[in-house]
Parts: sequence; structure tokens; C-alpha cells
Amino acid sequence: MKDKQPVYIIGAGVSGLIAAYELEQAGHSPVILEQSESVGGRVKTLDEKGFPLDLGFQVLLSAYPLAKQYLDMDALELRKLESGALIYADGKSYRIGDPLRNLGVLIPTMLADIGSISDKLKILKLNQRLKNKSIAEIFETPESTTLEYLQDFGFSSKIIARFFKPFFAGIFLEPELRTSSRMFEFVYRMFGEGYATIPKAGIGAISEQLKTKLKNTEFRFNTEVKTVTSNHISLNSGEQLDHNGVILASNAASLVLGQEIPNIDWKSCMCIYFEVDQTNIPKETIALVSDAGKYSNNLYAYKDLKTGKKILSVTVLEYSEVSKDELIESVVAEVKQYTGAQRVNYIQHYDIVQALPDIHDLKMTMELDKTQVMESVYLAGDAQLNGSLNAAMEAGRIAAQALLSNS
Ligand SMILES: Cc1cc2nc3c(=O)[nH]c(=O)nc-3n(C[C@H](O)[C@H](O)[C@H](O)COP(=O)(O)OP(=O)(O)OC[C@H]3O[C@@H](n4cnc5c(N)ncnc54)[C@H](O)[C@@H]3O)c2cc1C
Repeated sequence: MKDKQPVYIIGAGVSGLIAAYELEQAGHSPVILEQSESVGGRVKTLDEKGFPLDLGFQVLLSAYPLAKQYLDMDALELRKLESGALIYADGKSYRIGDPLRNLGVLIPTMLADIGSISDKLKILKLNQRLKNKSIAEIFETPESTTLEYLQDFGFSSKIIARFFKPFFAGIFLEPELRTSSRMFEFVYRMFGEGYATIPKAGIGAISEQLKTKLKNTEFRFNTEVKTVTSNHISLNSGEQLDHNGVILASNAASLVLGQEIPNIDWKSCMCIYFEVDQTNIPKETIALVSDAGKYSNNLYAYKDLKTGKKILSVTVLEYSEVSKDELIESVVAEVKQYTGAQRVNYIQHYDIVQALPDIHDLKMTMELDKTQVMESVYLAGDAQLNGSLNAAMEAGRIAAQALLSNS
């Protein structure tokens, strides 16, 4: 009887979609239970006031091994971001980049007042070190904080404050760089090997593409799961489902009955979108605010394809002490000050409370049996490994393999 029940996946984020794909490949027809009304989880593009806006500014690193495995990159029509950044510091702006990819940035990079010549040579040394280090080695290296790692490498406090802090704060979504050095090395290596990209239709195109690859998966949207045991899934609606295996591709701690799964801490961010008349940010370039005491961390300007209007996204990391209206007012003033925009019209903001898992002992992958929390119940989701799209995919893949190996 039990064999007649489907395998369920809880959560239609990237991790759940990959788990479904792997189960389909093995002949299953899984059912995905998703509390919201669409796929994607943290990887969505929403239509707001006529503009497609990403639910938080984020990028797909084209070198992610799992992205290469599961995504049709050509079909995503990826916009490649320039390597490097525009840095605002002390009333000036500096353009920096990788001269090996874009010779035009060689002189501005060498002249940029963001660190000493010795710092810039150390960047080349770091590039070389990480080029020769495999991803497996990166995740086997003892962890320190990213800040300690940079200090130990010999970088000056100036280049840390003016470049590394704002750049990696925007990636790790925390300004102190207390995130694991493994994540720093991994992301740095991925940047070196490929590009930061955004699909032409927005980041949500990734989830939509993964959805279209699923041919035998049933989706039940607006379906919130309350609890899971080895035999049953209880929905918030009161409905009870018998199952033949469950993959929890969502924040699991509160769902699993009879097992102590540690709660995960999360890093938050606020992403605010504006329509602007102009900016001084070069095309496909991320701008960073390195001045202390500002709300804006990183800014990215692009042309909306449908309306032709210029959109600016601003990511804010520290905003718990301020009201939403005060924050938006301050960010508008910062946008005018830094980018030279005269007209800055607010469109929308997203306060993403659970943006990235705040975890230690980061992993690239894990053994199959480590994903199992009780009989027939397996954990997926980026929080199993590290906070990235690559990890979300790998965790979904591993959980599906673990379930299949036991069925
Ligand atoms: C602002 C921001 C910036 C980021 N930047 C980057 C970046 O630049 N590069 C990068 O690689 N990664 C980035 N990430 C991380 C990346 O988006 C995540 O690692 C990835 O999307 C996680 O996917 P997931 O499937 O594990 O989880 P989620 O996307 O969170 O999916 C979980 C799903 O489960 C559903 N769910 C939860 N509870 C229940 C329940 N009880 N019942 C039913 N359904 C439930 C949720 O609605 C959700 O759809 C960023 C994330 C954010 C938010």
C-alpha cells in the first residue's frame, strides 16, 4: 500500500526543483508541496507596478559546477556583469577591474586610491593561489572568518575597507566579513573562473526553466506543510497525506516531529528598487559604497527591457534600527549623492528576513546518509551546505539520491 503513495518534496525553491528532476530521472512522479503560489522560493522575479523586479538583487555565477550541470545557460540569455566594480569612497569614485579580461581597466585600477600597489599585487597572488586550489580542497581547509583570512594574507586595512568589505558584504549579506573563509575562497574562485550573470528576464528565469524541465511532477501551490513524520505529512489545512518518502527542501526545523533539528540563523537584507533618470554607474557594473555609516551597500543599474526605463536596485544590510520610510528617504539621498541621479522614484522594497543561512562548517557536498533525518525523510536546501544557488542544487541532488538509494 505504502508503495502506491507518491514521494513528496516540500518547497519549490531551486533545491526542491532539482530534487524533483533527479527523482523523475529515476522514474518517480513526485508531488511538490509549496506554501506560496509559485516556484522559485528565494529566486523569483516579481511583476511590480509594471516592472519585473528580482526578489533581492542576486547573481548566478556562471562557473558554478551544478549550474553548468542543470541549467541551459544559453536559453537564459545571461547578461554578463563586468568583473570588478565602481567604488564610492570619500567623495570620489574609482573604477576597478581585472585587466586580464578588460585591458581598459588596467590604468584606472592601478591608479585607484583603494589600496597600495602591494595590495594590488597581492590580489594577483590570491588569484593564482585560488586558481590552483580545487573546490574540494577549499572546503577541506580549516575555516577562519573572511576578515581574518584577508588580514592573514597581508592585505592592508585600506583595501579591506574600500574593496573587500563592501564587495563581499554584498555577497555574504553581512558587513563584518565574519562569514567562513571557505565561502570567500569558493566565491572568489567562481568569480575568477566565470562571470557574475543575470538572466535577461530576471533571476526568476532560473526557477522557471527548472520547472519546465519537470514533466512528471505535480505541483500543489498554496499548500503549507505543518508537520512531517516517517509516515505522514500534515498540512496546515488539516489534510493528512501518507507518503513514500519526503524531501524537505525548506527550512525544516519546525516541521519534523520527533527529531531535534537545530534551528538555523539567517542573514537578512533589504532590496529597494527605484526608477532613475541617470546614474554614473557604468553598464553591467556593480557599484559599492565603502564610506562608513551609509545604508546603501551595493547598487546596480539596468534598463528595463519592456519600458526602456532605468532601474536602480540598492541593497541595504543594516536597517533594524530605522523605520521603512526613514530608510527609503536616506537611501534616496545617498543615491542622489553618489550616482548623480536627479530623479529617484521609489518603486518597491523587499525585506528578506531569511536571505542566507548563517552557518559554519560550510560544505560543497555531503554523504548521502547525512541527509536522512528519520526513516523516509531527507533534508535538502542550501542551509545543508552553504548559502548559494550551487549549494541549493547540490543539496537537492544529494537528498534525491539518498532517497533513491533507500527505496
Ligand atoms: C537577497 C538574496 C541574494 C542572494 N544572492 C545570491 C547570489 O548572488 N548568488 C547565489 O548563488 N545565491 C544567492 N542567494 C542565495 C540563493 O538564492 C539561495 O541559496 C537559494 O535560492 C536557496 O534555495 P532553496 O531551494 O534551498 O531555498 P528557498 O528558495 O528558500 O526555497 C524554500 C521553499 O520552501 C517553501 N516552504 C517553506 N516552508 C514551507 C512549508 N512549511 N510548506 C510548504 N512550503 C514551504 C518556501 O515558500 C520556498 O519556496 C541569495 C539569496 C537572497 C535572498
